[in-house]
Parts: sequence; C-alpha cells; structure tokens
Amino acid sequence: MSTVSGIADEALGPTITIGEILVEIMATTIGEGFRAPQTLIGPFPSGAPAIFIDQVAKLGGACGIIAAVGDDDFGWLNIQRLEADGADVSAIAVLPDQTTGSAFVRYREDGSRDFVFNIARSAAGHVAMTEAAKSLISRAGHLHVMGSAFAIPGIGPIVLEALRVVKGRGGSVSLDPNVRKELLSGGQGSEALDAVLAEADLLLPSGEELFMAAGVADENKAIETLLARGATEIVVKRGEEGASVFSVQERIDRAAFVVEELDPTGAGDCFGATYLTCRRKGLTAEQSLRYANAAGALTVTRRGPMEGTCSFAELDAFIASQESRNNS
Ligand code: ATP
Ligand code: MG
Repeated sequence: MSTVSGIADEALGPTITIGEILVEIMATTIGEGFRAPQTLIGPFPSGAPAIFIDQVAKLGGACGIIAAVGDDDFGWLNIQRLEADGADVSAIAVLPDQTTGSAFVRYREDGSRDFVFNIARSAAGHVAMTEAAKSLISRAGHLHVMGSAFAIPGIGPIVLEALRVVKGRGGSVSLDPNVRKELLSGGQGSEALDAVLAEADLLLPSGEELFMAAGVADENKAIETLLARGATEIVVKRGEEGASVFSVQERIDRAAFVVEELDPTGAGDCFGATYLTCRRKGLTAEQSLRYANAAGALTVTRRGPMEGTCSFAELDAFIASQESRNNS
C-alpha cells in the first residue's frame, strides 16, 4: 500500500469517524444563556464528527460515520444531509426509543458561548458496535477520532476496536484532541484517548490542546515530544492567526485568509477534514494546508455549524477571490 508520510492514501478505503450527531439550535441575539424566552434559529445538522465527515464528503472523499440518532425529524435531518453530500450513512443507527441529541447555543458579548447540551442521555449517547459499524470499519482506510466523542459513555472500546482493525490493514489514524477532560466518560474513555494519542499518525490540536496532549507547556517542546512518540504530522490550528504543519522534515506556517467572522463553530472540523482529505488524495502538506485554511475561513463566514462545508470548486473560487483582492 502506498502512503503519503504515514497517511494512507484513498485507495485503501474510506475515512471513517465515530461519535455524536446532534442538532444545533442557536439564539439569534447575543447575551447570557437561556434563562428567559427568546428567538431561536434551527435546527441545524451538527456534532463535530458529523461536520468533519460532511466536509470529507463535500471534497469527494469516500467516508462514513458510526453514530446513533432517534427516529425523529432531528435525526433524519442529519441523515439526509450527510447522505445528500455523499457520506456513507449505513452505520448511523436509528433508535426507536431515543431522541436525537441536541445543543442549544448562545454567544456572549466576548465571543464565548453558553451551551445547553443533551448528548450522553440522548440517542447520541447510545453509539454501539452494530453489524453495520463492523462492516464499515472492516473496509476503512483511515480512522479520524474526535476528542469530543469521548463524552459518550462506552465509546472507548468501539474506538479501540476500530483503531486495531484500521491499523491492522495498513490504514492510518488522526486525532483532533478537542476534548474536555471533565466530559470524559470515566477511566475507560481516558484510557482509550491515551491509546489513540499513542497510535495517531496525524494530530490536529488547537490552543491548549497541544500542551495537554504532550504534557509540556512549550510549543516547540510539545511538538518534539509528539513527533518522537510516533506522530508523522502535527497541524496546529490558530484561529484567525492561521495554522502550522510540523513533521520531522519540515515546518510550514501560514496566515489565515482575511474574512468577517459570523459563526466560528465548525471551523476546526472543516479545517481538519480538508487537510486530511487533501493528504489522502496525495497533495503536499503545503497544498493541503492552503486548502484547509480556506475551508476554515469559509466556514466562519456562514451561520450554522455544517452550513460552511464546501467542495474543491468552492475552495478554488474562494482562494482566487482572496488573491485577486490582495493583488488589486
Ligand atoms: P472549533 O471551534 O471548531 O473547535 P478550533 O479551535 O478547532 O475550532 P480554529 O483554530 O478556531 O480551530 O479554526 C481552524 C482554522 O480555521 C484556523 O486554523 C484557520 O485556518 C481557520 N479560521 C478560524 N477562524 C478564522 C477567522 N476568524 N478568520 C480566518 N480563518 C479562520
Ligand atoms: Mg477544535
């Protein structure tokens, strides 16, 4: 099998992920939380793993997701969107006795957010190793693990089984450590996360996540530690400051595209999906970083977590418009 710097190419099989599918419902005004009636907009399809896999699909990458929704409009809204965009939805369980997970979100004046989550006790919290999940895993060429998914009780063993099978057939693994330690579902989740961290070929941290993953609070030392542990590529996301790629061979820093930020939710997920998919298609780290930066920037200009996912044609048009703006 051919690989690009440790990342399995597309021929080996689809990119898969495991985790929460949610609807997101947003306050239309800025302020504090939800303790008074107010105008809301939604439901929007959401959940970090779902946003990630939708972006892979939009780029024409083969992909699928292992997840669970209720047999309700919130669940079907997500399934229909993912399917229309080209993702394999065969391993999304539709649970008749559960309600689809949700996140209500309101932005505060300072850009931080108040959430009301319903994940662990919703359908999303009942992700299980079904026959359809086993079948998808057995065909996969790459496993992407979202740290946020460890909020689901019992997900640890499913992730570890997928890791074993995908690695066993020569596939690769990436990790977005967007995890809140307090959301980890007990010792099992924490152990599984450590195992994924030890095996991941590509890491996609942002901010403090890099230091948490490495256990060192200095960027260069953290990168050195993680590369020595076996990751072949680390991409550090820096919001409106852009992003950097680190590998044993090189370091590439790129500024972000200049856009007006309307809704930052989903930027990291679209960025990561784009970087990974470009690498699996054989693009260089530099080309992949450019497309990923464009995907992250485009996402923040659109309201709704999954509304900013985009195709290569849209990314090329966006990059061309940015460049003509800079040259005029
Ligand atoms: P998330 O909130 O989805 O978890 P994250 O922290 O994982 O996000 P960010 O660093 O916020 O990731 O965003 C990912 C990428 O998206 C950035 O590296 C950058 O390329 C792009 N991006 C994010 N915010 C902006 C912005 N305001 N302007 C331009 N590009 C942006
Ligand atoms: Mg993130």
